[in-house]
Amino acid sequence: VVAVRDLHKSFGTLEVLKGISFYAREGEVISLIGSSGSGKSTLLRCINMLEIPDSGSVSIDGEEIRLRGTGQHRQIGDEHQIRRIRSELGMVFQNFNLWAHLTILQNVMEAPLVVQRRPRAEVEAEARAMLAKVGIGEKADSYPAQLSGGQQQRAAIARALCINPRLMLFDEPTSALDPELEVEVLRVIKVLADEGRTMVLVTHDMEFARSVSDRVIFLHQGKIEEEGTPDEVFGQTRSTRLRQFLNAAS
Ligand code: ATP
Ligand code: MG
Repeated sequence: VVAVRDLHKSFGTLEVLKGISFYAREGEVISLIGSSGSGKSTLLRCINMLEIPDSGSVSIDGEEIRLRGTGQHRQIGDEHQIRRIRSELGMVFQNFNLWAHLTILQNVMEAPLVVQRRPRAEVEAEARAMLAKVGIGEKADSYPAQLSGGQQQRAAIARALCINPRLMLFDEPTSALDPELEVEVLRVIKVLADEGRTMVLVTHDMEFARSVSDRVIFLHQGKIEEEGTPDEVFGQTRSTRLRQFLNAAS
């Protein structure tokens, strides 16, 4: 579903990604782990071109995202293509990015109605079903400020799901939450994983990464230091850096 090849990204003189390649097949769940500043969010943001990589490529379903120019002058090559591709990706960030002036239901319906131009009745039925699925069906007509952080984050997930994305990207979706709220969001993500959604997720929760992932990628200073199944990565680890990271994280 997604293939990333030899991505490089610098911010000024700071080289954040130093040649990253990986892929996710249909139905796979990939977790990105690594210490703060290792480039996890930047990598995720390069997948949907919220950050433009200096070199390297990203393909979605075998279609390479077109870019033009080189190095730090690189930019989107085809606005239509990127809009279409973005509309097929679901992204959930750390800070709930719901529209404050819209109800939860309106938030979830926004993209299917406006971007995908689907019929309102059908979208509303699906949006309500998604909200029920993430356990906040009764909050459809509330505003974001009236929900707990965990409920808001589940609304953000419902919204991302409602565009029926080919790929879900999660960037520490629970890091702004209290532990007890975190559990309910992780439970929703686990259900999606078990249903066979293709996902790339950044998490600091090693136990969760272990339980949800098909493969785990450990980033260290902008490079993939280790990669493997959860058992490989969390089992006997060969890399001293990974061992240090896991010790610090537990
Ligand atoms: P965390 O676990 O803290 O979220 P991360 O692995 O997600 O960390 P990134 O957010 O990818 O790390 O950041 C990697 C490095 O790039 C950091 O040193 C950060 O300061 C820098 N960086 C990220 N975005 C920008 C930007 N827009 N401009 C300048 N520097 C940036
Ligand atoms: Mg980050």
